[in-house]
Amino acid sequence: MKLKFPVVENDRVWPTNSICPICGKAKIGEDGTFAVFMLGALKKTGEDSATISDELLGFADLFWHASDKDPDGCKSVSIISNAKSGQADLYFCTTNCLRKFFNLCVDELENKRSPDNEES
Ligand SMILES: [Zn+2]
Repeated sequence: MKLKFPVVENDRVWPTNSICPICGKAKIGEDGTFAVFMLGALKKTGEDSATISDELLGFADLFWHASDKDPDGCKSVSIISNAKSGQADLYFCTTNCLRKFFNLCVDELENKRSPDNEES
């Protein structure tokens, strides 16, 4: 399976329907259970207080830092870009699909490092 990255761009929720984006079969939360990868940031408003702010844009990337001898070797995968208010929720039917999602993200990073090894 191939995902289109970033999975969240200029939005806050993925998927936008209720079908699990990894297995494509299960309705997320149909039985009341589901897994979520939550991205969050808060604007500090005081010593012990913070709030959600429209001034924030959230992101989540995976990054491979190459050695100084390989300046073109640094690669990244953008998973979440410009998440509104610095908040994003990625929903999955099970932790198994959550795990597969992160494996696909790491696969994408590895494929950028070594495109010849890309699996179809
Ligand atoms: Zn699933």
